[in-house]
Amino acid sequence: MELKELKGVGPKTLQGLLDLGINSIDDLVRYYPYRYNVYKPINIRDCIDNSTITIIGRVVSKPSFFRGNKVKSIIRFKFETSNNIINVTIFNQPYLTKSLYINKELTLVGKYDELTNTFTVSKIFNDVLDKTLIEGVYHSSSNINRSSLVKLINNVLLADYEVKEIIPSYINDKYELMNTKDALKVIHNPIDNSSYKKALLKLKYEELFEFMFKINILKIRKELNDNFVIKDFKDDSLNRILSLIPFELTKGQMDAINEIIEDFRSLRRMNRLVLGDVGSGKTIVAFISLILNKESGYQGCMIAPTEVLAIQHFENFKSLFNDLDIKVELLTGNTSKAEKNRINKELLNGDIDILIGTHALLEDNIEFNNLGLVVTDEQHRFGVNQRNILRNKGEAVDVLYMSATPIPRTYALTIYGDMDISLIKDKPKNRKEIRTLKYTFKDLDKAFDIVNEELNNNHQVYIVSPLIEDEESDINDINNIKELVNKYLVSNKKVGILHGKLKNVEKDKIINSFKEGKIDVLISTTVIEVGVDVSNATCILIFNAERFGLSTLHQLRGRVGRNSLESKCILLSDKNSERFDCLVESNDGFYISEMDLKLRGSGDLFGIRQHGDMSFKIANIVSDNRILLQCKKDSEEFIKDNIDTNFSNYSYYRNIVNELVNKD
Ligand code: ADP
Ligand code: MG
Repeated sequence: MELKELKGVGPKTLQGLLDLGINSIDDLVRYYPYRYNVYKPINIRDCIDNSTITIIGRVVSKPSFFRGNKVKSIIRFKFETSNNIINVTIFNQPYLTKSLYINKELTLVGKYDELTNTFTVSKIFNDVLDKTLIEGVYHSSSNINRSSLVKLINNVLLADYEVKEIIPSYINDKYELMNTKDALKVIHNPIDNSSYKKALLKLKYEELFEFMFKINILKIRKELNDNFVIKDFKDDSLNRILSLIPFELTKGQMDAINEIIEDFRSLRRMNRLVLGDVGSGKTIVAFISLILNKESGYQGCMIAPTEVLAIQHFENFKSLFNDLDIKVELLTGNTSKAEKNRINKELLNGDIDILIGTHALLEDNIEFNNLGLVVTDEQHRFGVNQRNILRNKGEAVDVLYMSATPIPRTYALTIYGDMDISLIKDKPKNRKEIRTLKYTFKDLDKAFDIVNEELNNNHQVYIVSPLIEDEESDINDINNIKELVNKYLVSNKKVGILHGKLKNVEKDKIINSFKEGKIDVLISTTVIEVGVDVSNATCILIFNAERFGLSTLHQLRGRVGRNSLESKCILLSDKNSERFDCLVESNDGFYISEMDLKLRGSGDLFGIRQHGDMSFKIANIVSDNRILLQCKKDSEEFIKDNIDTNFSNYSYYRNIVNELVNKD
């Protein structure tokens, strides 16, 4: 069945689903909440300062309705809850008047002000919750709102739509895993912790099993030792390239380059990952490899996960290596058709030496004359399937991946089991450590003093908001933050806002203005996490830092400290701020990711999901490492038992193998 056949899916809703990356019914039921609202009725006397609470009770005075000046409407009534009479105010929901009357029993969610004995409602349930209600919160889009989305998901789950069970049944039995459809029901509508945990386990296991299956298949393929070429370039090439670079490479960068050269000259294809912390300087390693590849007579390309990054690399390459006789071009989703045609032609006849771009490079009609090297930047942002597409665009293509996911080496060997690894451990010499400071919201003005000082020195600042919009919770959404910024920021500074819901063109425009210094302060969601390099930015202020894992915070803070100026990272949070101590103490991403693993455990049930790596929907490659290691073992056994029959009993896996390997 297709999405458009579902009841209630017209053209607009369909577009809304597509906007969210939902292309099939399977995508729909696996469109997971990114966090949950938990409504647990409490006694109003137990309310802690200014927090959002849930209360139950009944209306005891006739509701009155007003039209306000600043607000559209106000409803007021008295409400009895746990033997207290309080005043209730509801803004802008005039349609509620009809359903409110004396003795009506209700559940109210909102904030209580003890001084005026007033409860301001943010959400209302038309009956009395007799137990805790847990409600999924989803990212929605302008074409589809949350409630339609939830309705669609639940309709599918309640109907007899069959959800494919991809885990071999002997494994389901062995671990007593929940069946997938039940797991999906629970994940969208959790009732209690124990079933939620089981559902989570099943869905994570599924994702990680398939992932490890693919990795192990690719690894076997690699051992087949397929086509290769030996790359030969003049002995002084490297020195000439190095002489054009305005800084001295670190030992880690040089080691990586030498390992790549060894691969170029060896009797096999390169399949190498350069793993280095943010700011360790992976880009230049990629550039040097591309040039050496060119000097050996081959074309090369570099793919980045966002247009902003692709443009950044392109500009950077041109300005560094202007003196070399190399033709480099940029190709993204926004390249005009005419331009694209020209690039296509010049690629085919071999005029273009190096092509830098986004996913647009993956398209079938992009063909090279003699592709010899593919570099993938921010590899952890791409799925496993994409690993092969570019590789297959040439006879014997070497591949190089760049990743900043700072994980312990042994663990890297598992998730990158099909690759060789070059580890860059050191940072460029001129760097000052980023100073990391913790503040609570009480001291917001002091935090902004620091921001303002940087701005007064004509430096730029990032301000990070945890989410785009989040109606019913305590956290600061981007609009709220904008107001705070207006209040505390020195005047005459230009502020730009960046979030995931903007169109790509707009995003790029804003980031480019920030790069060019036309914007002083960039308020952003975690969109900026990936690779952006603006060396004049010296300060990053992160709201509700408790919402992020330590590794994500480390990546975010890596946006500053990109030159010899001292940079600062300010973590704003009222909760669990001891957790940030290791960020204050250390700038070493590998150390931080180990701490992250230790601290996170399985504790944060019903918490916000971490920003996913490797396009996982529910699993987290770092914190779910125990499940992952089990999946590694289980998938190895599964492959061993079934490879001889080409997975004849498992069509799902047979198809994966065909797609990943046999197309070669
Ligand atoms: P990442 O590893 O996070 O991708 P980049 O490659 O973007 O890091 O490098 C970050 C910044 O450091 C860039 O501005 C780059 O020009 C600079 N850089 C890279 N290597 C060195 C070095 N050895 N010495 C000084 N600066 C360097
Ligand atoms: Mg980078």
